[in-house]
Amino acid sequence: MSLKPIILLHNISKTYERKIALSSLSIVIEKGERIALIGPSGAGKTTLLNILANIIPSDTGSFELNGLPIHQYLSNKRLAKKIGVIRQQFDLVGQLPVIHNVLAGRLGEWGFFKSIISLVFPQDKDLALAALERVGLGDKTYEKTSNLSGGELQRVALARLLVQHPEIILADEPVASLDPARAEDILSMLAKLVKEENQTLITSLHSVEYARQYFTRIIALRDGSIYFDLPSKEVTDQMLSDLYYLKELE
Ligand code: ADP
Ligand code: MG
Repeated sequence: MSLKPIILLHNISKTYERKIALSSLSIVIEKGERIALIGPSGAGKTTLLNILANIIPSDTGSFELNGLPIHQYLSNKRLAKKIGVIRQQFDLVGQLPVIHNVLAGRLGEWGFFKSIISLVFPQDKDLALAALERVGLGDKTYEKTSNLSGGELQRVALARLLVQHPEIILADEPVASLDPARAEDILSMLAKLVKEENQTLITSLHSVEYARQYFTRIIALRDGSIYFDLPSKEVTDQMLSDLYYLKELE
């Protein structure tokens, strides 16, 4: 008997007005995979991540999580335990101490004020402190969040994710706004944490080098279709240059 894949997409299509963003995409993802989505801009990466995050619906096709259709996960609470999203702007509140922002990940469905109230529960607080230690920000726990650097803010977002502890983590170009050294620092940390927790990671990326280095599988999209879907080790330079080159001719 085989286990159900954690994510099963079958014939997913999405059209915006007359623009086909995704065309009959079928993807099976097993627990613990670390997947990089690459491809030229406009290929459909963000659209795919938004469908996976349940932010937008697909027009056609089916999407199952652990063998259950996505619409059966009725509450955000159930979904927040399954899927966590790293947003580009991080959604951190600058005026508040770092620990409050980390605790905001404690229970996605509580909303912000209940997350603050949750500070009175020591168990939650300990979780947040442990998460901050793990991302190397133990000394910034009570610092005002807006005083932190871009790379540190990204680490706060990682700590919040550790506290939320979803089974699946989605990120849309999470390091696009960071310089190369910080980008590598964050990606290696993200990959390490995800591996330790046996979580499933799906991230869109500009850099194919990072995709190869930190991810187990690369799915290349072009014009809303899968151009290739391979273990990172099997992706050749030629495939990558074809992926980006063909787009230029259009
Ligand atoms: P990527 O993230 O790979 O750059 P997107 O998923 O953002 O690609 O976009 C895929 C295609 O869908 C592009 O052609 C884009 O212009 C189009 N698109 C994305 N979002 C919208 C929208 N809200 N309205 C109309 N077209 C959109
Ligand atoms: Mg995008």
